[in-house]
Amino acid sequence: MTRRVLVLGAGGFIGSQLVRRLVSEGSEVHGADLRQPEFSSSTAHRFVIADLRDPSASAELFDRGYDEVYQLAADMGGAGYIFTGEHDAQIMRNSAAINLNVLANCERTRPGRLFYSSSACIYPARNQLDPAHPDCNEESAYPAAPDSEYGWEKLFAERLYLAHARNHGIAVRIARFHNVFGPEGAWRGGREKAPAAICRKVAEARDGDEIEVWGDGEQTRSFLYVDECLEGAIRLARSAVASPVNVGSDEMVSINQLVDMVAAIAGKQLRKRHVAGPTGVRGRTSDNRFITQSLGWRPSQPLRAGLEKTYGWIESQLSQPAA
Ligand code: NAD
Repeated sequence: MTRRVLVLGAGGFIGSQLVRRLVSEGSEVHGADLRQPEFSSSTAHRFVIADLRDPSASAELFDRGYDEVYQLAADMGGAGYIFTGEHDAQIMRNSAAINLNVLANCERTRPGRLFYSSSACIYPARNQLDPAHPDCNEESAYPAAPDSEYGWEKLFAERLYLAHARNHGIAVRIARFHNVFGPEGAWRGGREKAPAAICRKVAEARDGDEIEVWGDGEQTRSFLYVDECLEGAIRLARSAVASPVNVGSDEMVSINQLVDMVAAIAGKQLRKRHVAGPTGVRGRTSDNRFITQSLGWRPSQPLRAGLEKTYGWIESQLSQPAA
């Protein structure tokens, strides 16, 4: 029997590629978002432009039964969007409203699985002070102390989803995504994340130029290529793992190393100028012990392989005439 799936946030970076992947595996895929995907046409069998903060628009989407619902819609951006503090109220209110509506509709229509995309941003700042040894083990989330309101909203949402699983028997699965990147992600305009921003700066620079890096560049992160993220998310959604799980890479690099890697891919010698900017926590990487043990999943390719594809895509975007 064909699996019927609903993807919320289907116009977004991860959601649009999740739709493509689910369609290619033979599912009947319905998608909803405020907007169509920016860089490709959606392959969803039904795509509804809807504001999921609106209870009646959200309810209408659930007019058919779904085997799986993937809830990825959120007010979201890179460090320049979520760590400046300027968008806190909007981020919290918009995303909380979306999640409250989704849960009310899932309680009513009872999908086979409800997947929610949480974030590494829920982890306490105190465990991410040492760039060489950040602790993002799933169990380290409490006592809670995320460093951004975006992280607090995600943590609240995790609890909201888990409470609905307990009280209403909904089969909830929660991934804590860690820095997902790849082609078709935001690469300019303020919502782009570090890999895309660095690929763009490197692509725009001439050999020998200097590029700006936020902070001293010694802050560490790991980055997960989007195809790996989709595989991890789908496996988790269909698994029996009911507690929140990291879906990330544990190949940790400093931002300076990331810049060097991208410059090497581009074949350019570049100098870095470190400037003040929102840098987030000092160190962060995915702790993959639980997901490896419970789902047998880990990223299949090194960071560099994903960066090569992403750099090539951003370079090609730059050479297109401005819209
Ligand atoms: P994205 O911004 O590209 O996608 C989110 C989508 O939600 C957007 O298309 C947006 O239009 C849609 N949306 C926002 N408000 C809406 C509303 N009111 N009604 C309908 N649609 C609405 O982000 P993404 O990178 O694809 O992230 C997907 C999910 O994964 C988000 O929940 C995000 O918080 C989470 N996440 C992503 C990362 C990452 O590195 N990309 C890391 C951790 C968590």
